[in-house]
Amino acid sequence: MTAIIDTHCHYNMEPIFDNVAKHWKKAQENGIEKTITVGADLETSEKALMISQEFPNIYASIGIHPEVCNDAIKTLLDGDKYSQEEIDMYVDNNLFELNKILNEALENKNKLVAVGEIGLDYYKLKNKGLKRNLVSQMQKKMFQKQLEIAFQNNLVAIIHVRDQNDRLENNAYFDVLNILKEIIKESKQPKEVKFVLHCASGPQAYIQEAIALGAYIGVAGNITYDSAQDLREIAKITPVNRLLLETDAPYLIPKSMQDPTKDKDQFCEPYMIKATADYLQQNMGLNLDIIRLNSKKLFSI
Ligand SMILES: [Zn+2]
Repeated sequence: MTAIIDTHCHYNMEPIFDNVAKHWKKAQENGIEKTITVGADLETSEKALMISQEFPNIYASIGIHPEVCNDAIKTLLDGDKYSQEEIDMYVDNNLFELNKILNEALENKNKLVAVGEIGLDYYKLKNKGLKRNLVSQMQKKMFQKQLEIAFQNNLVAIIHVRDQNDRLENNAYFDVLNILKEIIKESKQPKEVKFVLHCASGPQAYIQEAIALGAYIGVAGNITYDSAQDLREIAKITPVNRLLLETDAPYLIPKSMQDPTKDKDQFCEPYMIKATADYLQQNMGLNLDIIRLNSKKLFSI
């Protein structure tokens, strides 16, 4: 049996954070060899580093998720009555704090391997009472600066993108591509830029263009869902040497692990990645050895 590397898991979030040792032990018993715990704000980033210090073979990623911007707009700025200054200050403060955490981790030679999850998420903004223009402006700034931090420090960027696929204008998928292209073009000494589209979704044209720019494609448990034909298509058009496996636990329980008797109480546990790995091998004919080696190469772990 091939050992599994889980490239995106939230040991730093409840309910997994509640008992990291128990979940990590069970994951290892199910063949998980290494994992990356991914931050989504300042607090979970610090926790990711802390966990990576305690457990061998757990690595850390730190970053600020785009939804942090949405929450800030909602709570800090009270809907329509925002000021640009307040927005800028919020973004700058978060970046300042993130840089502090990063520098400390680098100095202490912590097991920091990535910046993320960062990105753009314009999904169903209307339902959340948010305006696309305002949200995208703030998210883009937060994303772009963190992407620069990742590339400058030779860390992998773990990128989260979500939007309605069919939206033509001001679409998160294409905004991400534009920002990536801009940064790659501008960097004077082009080093290798390392990034993964975590839990990848979106139009195939976007996926293909991202792969051409160097993207790795993260596949999570939702690829096993009946409704996820589009995600399976994405995996099919991705060269096998660019695929990565992830749980995104506590989210996205693979279909075969869902227990209808538990319904709302159930969450994705890190060991469940095994079901996604089995699915990729058995239903999609993918080579898990290659996927494991991709993770080792990309993250140098
Ligand atoms: Zn995640």
